[in-house]
Amino acid sequence: MANRFKVVLLGEGRVGKTSILIRYIQNEYSSDRQSTVQASYLEKRLNIDSTSVRLAIWDTAGQERFHALGPIYYRDAHAALLVYDITDRQSFTKVQHWVKELRKIVGENIVLAIAANKCDLEKKSQVDWSDAEEYATSVGAQLFRTSAKSGKGLEQTFLEISKALLQKN
Ligand code: GDP
Ligand code: MG
Repeated sequence: MANRFKVVLLGEGRVGKTSILIRYIQNEYSSDRQSTVQASYLEKRLNIDSTSVRLAIWDTAGQERFHALGPIYYRDAHAALLVYDITDRQSFTKVQHWVKELRKIVGENIVLAIAANKCDLEKKSQVDWSDAEEYATSVGAQLFRTSAKSGKGLEQTFLEISKALLQKN
């Protein structure tokens, strides 16, 4: 089957990209995760109705912390999951930067999803949900509340990304 897609994780350093990947694929979580990951991507197989989909989910090696993440990472991506930390307003602004970059480099066909991560820390949120919703709608992205710590929202996020990929490809 040819339903194999590249999904890139993008967002500021420390927002939880690596934690999301490890939680989603291995169902593990660590509060003192090291910044580096061994693999550049991990694979996930999903079934949508009777169609099988394989996602290659790419993580950065932490280059975003030094503003050194080049287009080679995302230029052939079919989808991007843009992650921000709800307790860090700046990381939400950074999502907007990445969306512009993706539109410019990859084009209009890329599937965009936004993860409002660390939703277990809701009380410390610095980003109004309505602002996030308004922004997501304006760029045609789906928006999800996620927590790599609890696992909340992750299955749904990647399921909806897969559905959107099947529709567009
Ligand atoms: P990355 O730089 O975007 O890959 O972020 P990491 O996955 O390395 O996570 C950065 C820090 O945030 C680590 O200390 C994680 O344990 C923590 N973290 C990640 N996701 C969550 C979450 O959903 N909730 C909470 N409370 N902490 C998280
Ligand atoms: Mg990381």
